[in-house]
Amino acid sequence: MTARPARTTVAIVGAGPAGLVLAHVLRRAGVGVTVHERLSRAALEGTARAGVLEHRVVAYLRALGLADRLTAEGERHGRCEISCLGERVEVDYGTLSGGARHWVYPQQSLVRDLVAAYEAAGGEIAFGSPVAEVAADGDGDGGVLLRTAAGARLRADYAVGCEGARGVVAAAFPGGAAGPGRRYPYDWLTVLARIDRPVQRVRYAVHADGFAGMMPRTADVGRFYLEVPPGELPGAWAPERIRAELARRLDLAGADPRPGELLETGVLRMRGQVADRIRHGRLLLAGDAAHTVTPSGAKGLNAAVGDAADLAGALLADLGGEPGALDGYQRRRLDAAWRTQEFSDRLLDLLHLPAGLPPGQRAFALRLRLERIHRIARPGPEAADFARAYAGAGELPLPAVWPPAQRTPVASGTTGR
Ligand SMILES: Cc1cc2nc3c(=O)[nH]c(=O)nc-3n(C[C@H](O)[C@H](O)[C@H](O)COP(=O)(O)OP(=O)(O)OC[C@H]3O[C@@H](n4cnc5c(N)ncnc54)[C@H](O)[C@@H]3O)c2cc1C
Repeated sequence: MTARPARTTVAIVGAGPAGLVLAHVLRRAGVGVTVHERLSRAALEGTARAGVLEHRVVAYLRALGLADRLTAEGERHGRCEISCLGERVEVDYGTLSGGARHWVYPQQSLVRDLVAAYEAAGGEIAFGSPVAEVAADGDGDGGVLLRTAAGARLRADYAVGCEGARGVVAAAFPGGAAGPGRRYPYDWLTVLARIDRPVQRVRYAVHADGFAGMMPRTADVGRFYLEVPPGELPGAWAPERIRAELARRLDLAGADPRPGELLETGVLRMRGQVADRIRHGRLLLAGDAAHTVTPSGAKGLNAAVGDAADLAGALLADLGGEPGALDGYQRRRLDAAWRTQEFSDRLLDLLHLPAGLPPGQRAFALRLRLERIHRIARPGPEAADFARAYAGAGELPLPAVWPPAQRTPVASGTTGR
């Protein structure tokens, strides 16, 4: 006889920022939660990706008590620079937005903090446990069945795909969930490098030979980007060539940090996509599973936490019997995803020259871009709009049941409905 599957209320697939934030809020509100993560704990906590966190995301994490280390060790940034035609324009977006600024804190540190806090609160994460298949439960009560690669079965009232693009939960949507997307006509070489001094602010370089970027991470590590032809392989770029090209396009001089040892290099296929739906019955998507956004505006992680914050409230409302709560999640977060996509697309358009532009027309295109850069640096409605979107001004919704201490958390793996 086959063993009966374990039961839970919400099965979360993926312990990235989206999955971890969602798990925290639900569990603290007394909902039974399981979290399955494909990677080992060491691999998850060692994966360097984002590092620029929006104002509203940090405010939300703070309100949950999840940002102590972030605010102690992270740095606030309210200015960036965009260089073009030899001019370096400072954008004081902290002031232009009316006070919203970024926090710089590496994604892997945030993930480590979230895992530690979840475990300290009694939660458990199944590391090294990829979910292989998700399907509607044949029992007919709208539940979901999950099967791990090791063959364990789990029955959940809801399954949330927080496992990044092309995940198993989206694959269980009839016909899939993929919506419109765009493949950009260039890629970005991504570099994590030791630096001789901290990156004081994000720098974007609009250059006739292609975009370059420099982002802060920690005191001795910086994130660098170089525009390269689409389909480029990382092996085409020797470390010396990368360092020289970064120095040339970013015009590194004087007190600027210099990339030294290259800790990681890769090529990011530049694409944007938004799912056409992020809810099918009790199947839900959040974070990169719902949308792919290029790193141009540092939005992916921030959008993932935004989804998790909204979904936590919607699931609690649905569990409390509020009709339409999950439809509201889908509507709000698809709208937000398109706003984010539009912002990133606009920024990419500013930072890159049109593909195939003849050399004789590049000076004209660069001069037009310099004009646009001045407009977002000069106080006025356009600059304020850019600054607010860039810094992530505003708030994420805290669930109505907050503070959750009034409810008793239910142990992981049990049904807390
Ligand atoms: C080079 C680079 C720089 C970036 N910079 C920024 C930045 O500055 N700011 C910003 O906001 N964003 C940035 N991003 C984007 C950001 O890293 C992502 O958008 C963010 O990680 C999305 O979070 P998530 O929780 O949705 O997904 P992820 O962080 O991808 O987490 C998904 C998790 O699910 C796990 N998983 C996958 N499949 C399964 C399965 N079948 N079963 C169980 N687990 C599974 C994965 O192992 C992973 O741990 C950057 C990305 C890159 C690549």
